[in-house]
Amino acid sequence: MDFDYTPIQILSENLNNNTFYMKRDDLFQVSFGGNKARKATLFFEDIRKTSADCVLTYGASSSNHCRIIANIAASKRLPCYIISPIESSHTTTNSKLVNLFGASVEYCPVSKVKSIIKLKLSELKAQGYAPYFIQGGGHGNIGTQAYLNAYSEILKYERKSGVNFDYIFHTSGTGTTQSGLIVGKLINDDDKKIIGISNARKNPQGTKVIYESVDSYLVNRLRKSISSEQIVLVDDYVLDGYGSYNKKIISVIFDMLKNDGIPLDPIYTGKGYWGMKEYIKTNNISDKNILFIHTGGTPLFFDHLEELFNGY
Ligand SMILES: *Cc1c(COP(=O)(O)O)cnc(C)c1O
Repeated sequence: MDFDYTPIQILSENLNNNTFYMKRDDLFQVSFGGNKARKATLFFEDIRKTSADCVLTYGASSSNHCRIIANIAASKRLPCYIISPIESSHTTTNSKLVNLFGASVEYCPVSKVKSIIKLKLSELKAQGYAPYFIQGGGHGNIGTQAYLNAYSEILKYERKSGVNFDYIFHTSGTGTTQSGLIVGKLINDDDKKIIGISNARKNPQGTKVIYESVDSYLVNRLRKSISSEQIVLVDDYVLDGYGSYNKKIISVIFDMLKNDGIPLDPIYTGKGYWGMKEYIKTNNISDKNILFIHTGGTPLFFDHLEELFNGY
């Protein structure tokens, strides 16, 4: 698959006289888009170079990651196996799509995930398969590469438009997106501030994971290193952790939909966008060019549509 870059557009938001732009990775050209689609595309390019004949991954049945992996695997006629934590196994649009694509989903307690993955891999090998394992959320150097590519697209946009972004904000989960952006900044010797708004993880753990991803990518390919002070992961807006949200987030989602016609969701992008606005107010950031990366998750918007109508 050979994809062109995703669009960047100006928003109507004008908080503190900043100018806001959005990179529409939710429009990435496969399986409802999003950062998992951007990462998955590279994983499947890698699979093509191997003799793998099936895919195994991990994630909640509601995750964007599992939907996209199941979709691309189906398109390539590769059997797809998903290990899913039983704790988050409710039915969502994503889980319905995963089933539609014919993936085989096996549930287990989150504490057993590691051992079940190991078991499943050896089971598949014993059956004569050559499985390719993709980490949950598309974590790892290939996922990092995907957002290094996105960073290059952002620089290309800057050269073409004459706009220079002072800040990049985005929602941070497993930290892979942020790692790729940080690597992009380092490689290009750029000075944008990259601010990840954590939707679940707290520090110091969240920052540590990003540090390790960046370090793993750079040590393997560039032999350059970074200090963890260069990583800004804001954990002030995680509320009660993954999946939790409040009225303010719903109202941010409604405003974005009404004013710019762009869907956000309460788990990732709505939470991140709300967190960004709070961060900008708290830190008195004004008169800057600010880019928010819409990391996608369109199906999640529909899962939470009722809350928008009901005023939550
Ligand atoms: C997974 C996800 C994120 C978080 O990305 P990471 O690379 O895991 O940090 C953000 N937004 C959406 C919509 C996601 O699905």
